[in-house]
Amino acid sequence: MSFTALGLSEKILEGVKAMGYADPTPIQLRAIPLVLAGRDVIGSAQTGTGKTAAFALPILSKLGHHQPGHPPRVLILEPTRELAAQVETALRDYARFTNLKVTVVFGGVGYGRQTDELKSGADIVVATPGRLLDHLAQGNVRLDRVEFLVLDEADRMLDMGFLPDVRKLVEKCPRKRHTALFSATIPPQIETLIQWAMHQPETVEIGARRSPAESVKHVIYPVSDSQKTDLLLRLLDSVNYDSVIVFCRTKHGADRIATTLKRANHAVAVLHSNRTQREREQALQGFRDGRFEVLVATDIAARGLDIADVSHVVNYDVPQHPEDYIHRIGRTGRAEATGDAFTIMVAEDSPHVFAIERFIGQKIPRIKLEGFDYRYTALFEESKPGNSGGFPGKVRGGRIHGGYHFSPGGRRR
Ligand code: AMP
Repeated sequence: MSFTALGLSEKILEGVKAMGYADPTPIQLRAIPLVLAGRDVIGSAQTGTGKTAAFALPILSKLGHHQPGHPPRVLILEPTRELAAQVETALRDYARFTNLKVTVVFGGVGYGRQTDELKSGADIVVATPGRLLDHLAQGNVRLDRVEFLVLDEADRMLDMGFLPDVRKLVEKCPRKRHTALFSATIPPQIETLIQWAMHQPETVEIGARRSPAESVKHVIYPVSDSQKTDLLLRLLDSVNYDSVIVFCRTKHGADRIATTLKRANHAVAVLHSNRTQREREQALQGFRDGRFEVLVATDIAARGLDIADVSHVVNYDVPQHPEDYIHRIGRTGRAEATGDAFTIMVAEDSPHVFAIERFIGQKIPRIKLEGFDYRYTALFEESKPGNSGGFPGKVRGGRIHGGYHFSPGGRRR
């Protein structure tokens, strides 16, 4: 089915064509007709599925033209300024053959331009919650004529503690409105928000994989910050791997780890966005051919790469966004192969680990590497009787045993 059959306006179809989109994505196919029909929609989908156009195209179609002097008719809330900016750009692109006005407000920058644009009368406001509340308090914008409200990446807004702000903003919008909510997962707090803010919503679930591949065994290795690299080295020594990707948060970190691993006689390739295209291709080819057994990579560089048959993924740094965890470990356990995913965790990673566990709907076992000379970290308290969250585990034929056997301040017994 093509875009033309979906019932979008001519001007918006022109915009879609100019973007070079040939066919609608699954979420667009299902959500666009619902939004056009005036239904509230819950989109259970991640970034990358085309969800922005899924809500933007029908809303822009229904808006039609700019109405001078009218307060905003569309409010789109986003968890981060990057997403807000990205969604604003997409909306401007889709609406380029209309005279609709789009603006974006987010924190961390001055108020001047945002205030001017809000006051000059935008039809569509894309915003992060905190800054928009500030503008409301200053009387720069009103929300009492909003017809379409979009709560994008609701689970991330929850993780970032924005739900109270979101509620305040929803309360400023008219009760009679259309609401769309997008969230990769629907934890109980989002369920409550849905019941409170939406009217007989229709759920559109898109087959984005939310649980890690069945065949992947995944475990967490808590360790003190100073021992991360030592633990990684010992882990690589103790595991019988064919090929392993080590994920790092930063380019600099990736380079540093690669150097350390090379010194320890591992055949290592590095993949990150500071390397030239040629270097990246050589790294990948070498890894595929088996010349390199370890690929050290950042998320950005590794996204979308199809690297088959990776036996292990090691998260040297815990991913900041739960979706990245799924992307990372999706590289192992592909197509019947079994793989293991190890995550090295330090105390400050706790919020990210909890977010990941909530996202995948399961607790990841915490285990200890047998024979490793651990220093004490408060993380080990997690597993003590009476403390929630601890998880004894056992992996790979009993070679690596789980549970902690620690006394505070002491070494492993
Ligand atoms: P999103 O999930 O909204 O972040 O979109 C992910 C990417 O897919 C963006 O770069 C969009 O421009 C692109 N995209 C969205 N819809 C389509 C489509 N129907 N065909 C091709 N690309 C699309």
